[in-house]
Amino acid sequence: MNKPLILIVEDDSAVKNLIATALETQDYRYVTAANGVQAVLEAATKCPDILLLDLGLPDMDGVEVIRKVRSWSEMPIIVISARSEDTDKIDALDAGADDYLTKPFSVEELLARLRVTQRRLKYIRAAAAQEAVFVNGDLTVDYAAGCARLRGQELHLTPIEYKLLCLLSRNVGKVLTHTYLTREIWGSAFDSDIASLRVFMTTLRKKIQPRPKDAQFIQTHVGVGYRMVRL
Ligand code: CA
Repeated sequence: MNKPLILIVEDDSAVKNLIATALETQDYRYVTAANGVQAVLEAATKCPDILLLDLGLPDMDGVEVIRKVRSWSEMPIIVISARSEDTDKIDALDAGADDYLTKPFSVEELLARLRVTQRRLKYIRAAAAQEAVFVNGDLTVDYAAGCARLRGQELHLTPIEYKLLCLLSRNVGKVLTHTYLTREIWGSAFDSDIASLRVFMTTLRKKIQPRPKDAQFIQTHVGVGYRMVRL
């Protein structure tokens, strides 16, 4: 079986060469990009299995790259950055990064993270293959058909309500922050977006939980976000 294809996004050629050499020792295949625009292009055209991403890029913040890639792909993203502040880490994770490595890092540490990510990759693919249809109690989300049903009846959802429902169901059991949700939906996270999010969440809840005795699919985490619970 082929080793995964890794996309290395790094503008510092010394670090890029260090990573490339480490990957070669393990027979990984790789492609490289030296800026954000090229990174997004390579991610879309080469379909790498794993993205190794430097956050400080010359043309855009690495977090922007994560957000763009996440709009179409669940490929694991490991952020590599010199920044050690917690906020950068949260921003990157919030945008959809899977793991985080702080410079300077050892080659052994990098390879260990890649092995962990490879195992997760198998899990992600199995989950994607098995869950073309998501079922939770009376609620069904048919990702392939692009529709949702409650007790067998198709729900009339607006595009934003449907996207919200997909985000919540694909991350069932996980708290999704307001910032994560608004960025996924509108590409931004202003206070006005969070206010809009509340409105759409209210209308979505009325549709998937129309009766007072219906199961509560969506939990509110005040000041943090929302979570779909597995019933
Ligand atoms: Ca850099």
